[in-house]
Amino acid sequence: MKKQYLLFIIVAGLLTLFSACKNQAGYKTLIITGQNNHKWKASSPVLKQILDETGLFSSEIMTTPEKGGDMKTFNPDFSKYKLVVIDYNGDSWSEKTNNAFVEYVKNGGGVVLYHAADNSFPSWKEYNEMSGLGGWGDRNQKDGPYVYYKNDKLVTDTTAGLGGSHGKRREFLVRARITDHPITRGLPVAWLHGTDELYSQLRGPAKNMQILATAFADSTLGGGTMRDEPILMTITYGKGRIFHTTMGHADEGGGPSMHCAGFITTLQRGAEWAVTGDVTQKVPWDFPSAAGVVLRPDFKEMTLDEAFANIGNYDIAKSTKYLSCIQSHIRDLAGDETGTLKIEKMMVKVLSNNEATVGAKKLLLRELSWMGSDYSVHAIKNLVSNAELKDEAEFALTRLQK
Ligand code: ZN
Repeated sequence: MKKQYLLFIIVAGLLTLFSACKNQAGYKTLIITGQNNHKWKASSPVLKQILDETGLFSSEIMTTPEKGGDMKTFNPDFSKYKLVVIDYNGDSWSEKTNNAFVEYVKNGGGVVLYHAADNSFPSWKEYNEMSGLGGWGDRNQKDGPYVYYKNDKLVTDTTAGLGGSHGKRREFLVRARITDHPITRGLPVAWLHGTDELYSQLRGPAKNMQILATAFADSTLGGGTMRDEPILMTITYGKGRIFHTTMGHADEGGGPSMHCAGFITTLQRGAEWAVTGDVTQKVPWDFPSAAGVVLRPDFKEMTLDEAFANIGNYDIAKSTKYLSCIQSHIRDLAGDETGTLKIEKMMVKVLSNNEATVGAKKLLLRELSWMGSDYSVHAIKNLVSNAELKDEAEFALTRLQK
């Protein structure tokens, strides 16, 4: 009897532990797709990957019936989720589903509206209040004003006209307009975004809306309004928070707009804010600057091992991304001797590798000159006899042997 009781305790304990682990898997997230004038089969898995990558979200993709299908069968239980991501632009949902979604947001549910989601549902009043601004679908002055920046001033423009346009796809500079919001805090004031459509002339109710970032739609670069158009927005609706990004026009496999580290990071931060009202994610080391676009080949932040696997092939004329990754890890480990020594050992391995380029070794010698320890001295001494590395090696040795 006693043994059975003990077994019961153990099983109960394991079950509790298991369910606790399951809870830690992340905010339950529903990505809705299935109809779009865009490649939703390409974009939705990318959105899922980007969100789940943070460890904060656990996403599932739900598809609606096809265009013309019986929308009454689309009936998600929104209350099961902390976040709903809309990658949808298609037939109206049933009234029951619309009402359930409105209730979900009013009660504090988080929402991310992605790219063409703001084209959707032109005649659903509550949805347009949640998106703040929308385009196409015969939207015009009846739907609300155009909202944009002109000469650094926020303009609410009630001029008659259709909502929604974009020029030729291109890279464009995104500029933060509110820099102390949890989503934009710590980001550069401006950064270059991967080739994308620059949504312009959006119009809508624009109630309880903050424009976090804009981009200038320069007509000399393939069509544009010559206004600074809203690109990232937040809206509150009841107790709910909505993050609206107009970026991310998808090609097969995502394309440069979705591979852009700026798109990925703002989506991850916007999603967290929509759920909690705050952002705990650290700004990644590869967040782009105004100087150049940063594309992540597999949507993920580079790991230290990947940086070391590649830096040996480094050519001075090419990108410094591998070194930047290593430097950011060193900075994060400041004060942690064991961690720093581990990186130092990896650096010494590159210095001792005959296949590694001179360019890479020069950069690492410069880095070791200030963060290295006795551990590096022997390997650096070996490089003094190399004419191409002599100066950097001697400099590092002087610094290290002080
Ligand atoms: Zn598009």
